Amino acid sequence: MDETQPGDEIAVTDYPFLAEEEPAKAAEHFRMAIARLGQLDGATPIPLNYALFYFYVAGTNTRFNAMLDRMMGSVGWDHETAAKLFMRFFTPCSDASMADLQQELLTVLNDIVGSVIDVAGNADQRTERLGQKVTKLSECKDAKQSLTIASDILVEAHELVADSKALATELRHSASEVERLKEDLLHARREAYIDTLTGLTNRRAFDKDLKALIDEAERDGTSFCLVLADVDHFKKINDEHGHLIGDRVLTQLGKQLSSRTRSCDKVSRYGGEEFAILLPNTESGQATQVAEHIREGIGRLNMRRTDNNVRLGTITASFGVAEYQQGDTPSGIIARADDALYKAKLEGRNRVCMAGG
Ligand code: GH3
Ligand code: MG
Ligand code: MG
Repeated sequence: MDETQPGDEIAVTDYPFLAEEEPAKAAEHFRMAIARLGQLDGATPIPLNYALFYFYVAGTNTRFNAMLDRMMGSVGWDHETAAKLFMRFFTPCSDASMADLQQELLTVLNDIVGSVIDVAGNADQRTERLGQKVTKLSECKDAKQSLTIASDILVEAHELVADSKALATELRHSASEVERLKEDLLHARREAYIDTLTGLTNRRAFDKDLKALIDEAERDGTSFCLVLADVDHFKKINDEHGHLIGDRVLTQLGKQLSSRTRSCDKVSRYGGEEFAILLPNTESGQATQVAEHIREGIGRLNMRRTDNNVRLGTITASFGVAEYQQGDTPSGIIARADDALYKAKLEGRNRVCMAGG
């Protein structure tokens, strides 16, 4: 009886069972199959078992061989399982083999969908469509339609993977963008508090540091000193050697100030050719000594121009020192240090004056 429909013919090559084989090969497979069959307890040499072992030794289908190995590894030879195996692998398009295949495909696709959903996060429309198609496949009884649905699912899954890859790329891109913005922000913050010429902190940073020291002194009863330094006759240096050399001198003076103070002290460029030094936990006597130490260092600098070897002559600076007093405001302590500095200038420059009372 022929059950195939017009236009639905099945080629002879679809049935391994009907395939031709070279006589010598067939004879060899025959001997090996019989030998195998003979070794197996409970497997009678009926055509079904012979056919299974024939295909096994011929190695026509690796998946079939793996399943038969598994079957031989289990206890005894089961006729029903052997028959199912034959139907599945050697009679294409049978309902049984189709159902098995469909189940296997469903399992694989469910795994794919599961992992894709893991990657892509949850329910967007595509994922939902994918889920619907998997359900449709599990309910489909028609072999051809099953394959169509399966290929649809693969296309959909493929696109979902592409989407999630794009998402991952986007996330990576966003992460590096965030990193770059953080760097920029850090850089901008640094720029905001650093004097570009000398590399010291600037007036803005000084104001912040002074405020913090006053808060600390009020809270903990600590004390600190402020030293203001102003280069003597700096205008003359600019006039004689030019502004660029004046800049180099300011940079060197900044280094001198930093090298003669502790790391906890805060040295800033207060403005123009003026510097401010905040000395935490320091009393006026110690602060005066620090200022003297710096003043001497500056006096010994003996700078020389590199372009024409001309000496710049002795450079000096004047200093005003003020100690924190209870209830001080930033402008209060600055004004006292400034007054002391003015006094140092009046008294002949190149000296340190302590603010009174
Ligand atoms: P004094 O001893 O009274 O302080 O005299 P001075 O010449 O140092 O003081 P004055 O206030 O008359 O002049 C300060 C000079 O500092 C004038 C200004 O051009 C110069 N100056 C300020 N900032 C800079 C700078 O960034 N670079 C250079 N090269 N010069 C600067
Ligand atoms: Mg000045
Ligand atoms: Mg000056």
